[in-house]
Amino acid sequence: MAEMEKQNRLTRRDFLKTVGLGGMAATSLEVARAVAGTDQGESKAPTLPRRKLGKTGVEVSILSLGGMFDTVNNQLMLRQAYNWGVTYWDTAEGYGNGLSEEGIGRFFTRNPDARKDIFLVTKTRPGAPEKMTASLETSLKKLNTNTVDLFLCHGITAVTEIGDPIKDWAAQMKKEGKIKFFGFSTHTNMEDCLLAAAKLNWIDVIMFTYNFRLMDTPKMKEALAACVASGIGLVAMKTQGGGPVKTDSEAELAMAGRFLERGFTDKQAKLKAVWENPNISCICSQMPSLTILSTNVAAARDLTKMGRNDLELLDRFAMETCSGYCAGCGHICQEAAGGTVPVSDVMRCLMYYRDYGDRDLAREVYAGLSEEARARLTEVDYAKAERACPQGLAIAELMREASRLLA
Ligand code: SF4
Repeated sequence: MAEMEKQNRLTRRDFLKTVGLGGMAATSLEVARAVAGTDQGESKAPTLPRRKLGKTGVEVSILSLGGMFDTVNNQLMLRQAYNWGVTYWDTAEGYGNGLSEEGIGRFFTRNPDARKDIFLVTKTRPGAPEKMTASLETSLKKLNTNTVDLFLCHGITAVTEIGDPIKDWAAQMKKEGKIKFFGFSTHTNMEDCLLAAAKLNWIDVIMFTYNFRLMDTPKMKEALAACVASGIGLVAMKTQGGGPVKTDSEAELAMAGRFLERGFTDKQAKLKAVWENPNISCICSQMPSLTILSTNVAAARDLTKMGRNDLELLDRFAMETCSGYCAGCGHICQEAAGGTVPVSDVMRCLMYYRDYGDRDLAREVYAGLSEEARARLTEVDYAKAERACPQGLAIAELMREASRLLA
């Protein structure tokens, strides 16, 4: 009987082979059942490894459910994430056109006992305190909760965007019990934001773009060390290092093949490279499908260390594809291009479009850019910005493509 069960169950290696280069052969539910080790996919699996989130002292799962999608119509994702121990849930007021927060709220309505197990994070853009209070109140209502564990100012490009009024606001919201911790997220000028935040004494957590392409630069290392010294909890996002240019290159296929021989997919290897840094408490990963969720959960549970050869493989790939990746150093190109167009934000929209394959998300984020920025996108002279770009991106051409694809 035991032997039969063993044969019926996919081994971890078989599973990795199945989902390895696209997962076309298995349905999401089959994959889910395989990882859960159950034919129903419902029973609770062992929890994920956990790490302390800086000075908050809270232990969080090392994998976070990035909820940038409609969870109202995707309750199964929440259920399965919960069952597999992915108990750090990240959302924002605008995600999934507002349906991300609403779906999480519905989940808590149906599963009130689950709320205490979830480290719940939501965000809003920095603004006037009264506007932020209104956003938070709306989020709490939609999330069907009295408090969020962490509230982030969304997508800042410099800490000057969150001055003393927001500091006082965060203290007041903590006092009223509406938030437990406060911080910000950043995809642009991350290193400068981290370095500046480390000098403040009121930032609990930062979620920031961090991946195999960025982790070894001296400035990123310095920024991380400064935050660790000041006790700021660090959450990595955009860990796949995708860019505005799709890299379906021979180099990528060769890398994927090499990692499969080691027992991981290349996507899992990129997660593992980030987890190798013990100062990163958690990876927030956009996981809108069971295939991605189960693959990431398998990576989080797999204790195999990345070897020197693995890391060198990622390094080589990063170098070969560097001109297809935007490193988020927006102050360089935006200033060089006259200041109107937030080039790195537009690059991120193209990344959603091409790397994530999520056209709706790409267009939604693009539509959130200022009218002036969108209107001037193809009018600006990017020659100086292209000369200044450390990644050597073809900025003018990519801005034209963005205008064509996303407008
Ligand atoms: S300078 Fe280049 S890499 Fe840096 S944000 Fe601008 S386009 Fe991206």
